[in-house]
Amino acid sequence: MTGTNSYPPTSVAVEMAEAGNPSARLSPTQISAFRKCGLRYWFSYLLGWREPPTPALAAGTIVHDTLEGLYRLPAPDRSFENAWSIMGNVGKELLLKPEYEHLGRGANRDDVRKRADLALTGYFELEKPSEIDVAIVDIETDVDAELNGVLFHGRLDRRTRKPIDRVTDYKTGKKPSGVPLDDYVQQVLFYAAAINSGSDPGVEEVELLFLPDKQAVRRPVYPAAITRVTEVLIQTRTEIDAAMQSGQWIAQPSRLCNYCPFKPVCPTQQKTAPIPGSAASQNLLSQTGLQRKVSASATEITDPDFLPLELSE
Ligand code: SF4
Repeated sequence: MTGTNSYPPTSVAVEMAEAGNPSARLSPTQISAFRKCGLRYWFSYLLGWREPPTPALAAGTIVHDTLEGLYRLPAPDRSFENAWSIMGNVGKELLLKPEYEHLGRGANRDDVRKRADLALTGYFELEKPSEIDVAIVDIETDVDAELNGVLFHGRLDRRTRKPIDRVTDYKTGKKPSGVPLDDYVQQVLFYAAAINSGSDPGVEEVELLFLPDKQAVRRPVYPAAITRVTEVLIQTRTEIDAAMQSGQWIAQPSRLCNYCPFKPVCPTQQKTAPIPGSAASQNLLSQTGLQRKVSASATEITDPDFLPLELSE
């Protein structure tokens, strides 16, 4: 496990009866979630527990959809005014959905709007979209690949091919200060590894755009970086499959436990916690306001819509 580790990892036995099967395809979000804490991944992806959407998640979805809509316009029409208009429509539509309904009123609505405004304004200070040469097929594109026998699936934000072949990931949350960006960079490098494994000429650079901070972070795509993320993909697949076989998942206590919705039932945090996956544990989780989104019969669980802030942006 990697990331903001503070304490030794702990192997936790779980009850598997209620759990679905892991996805056959791994996405960057899943890999990141598993590597931060395997037990949290299990609660989230295998048991299907979800948090209600946060203002940060809603704002992130709105801004991503807005930029997608903007880049579907002819280059001269990609103005701030048009982006603003798209965002108004996208925001209204999203907040009318039942699962986002609690964010459509009062302080929550203001929070969503403030975050989305900040990100969109920051974006226009970072780039001039009318000058970005991008094909429609390179916007919000599904990327599928098999790397050394392991299936990968993701959806990239944007790929531009001139003047350099570059994959871009929009970040609508603040850039973390004082911590390495390894996890963020790794997530976007997975796309480069997947694309470059095909007959495609190949991605030369990855880019993170931290919109509220108006900062771009770029890294070259060296063969060594591709090898490294491919190894992480394979290792993650191996570890997930082994945990499924053994019923033992690695919990990684860290500062992120303070933001973890499963802290009330996590054996590393509560001495009297019931066995994860047991009826007692499931009952406790349902009392915390979490929702269970998938049935136990699910055979492939896609990325959660409701991942907490620090895992979802
Ligand atoms: S509380 Fe910490 S150790 Fe427990 S599942 Fe959450 S992140 Fe993992």
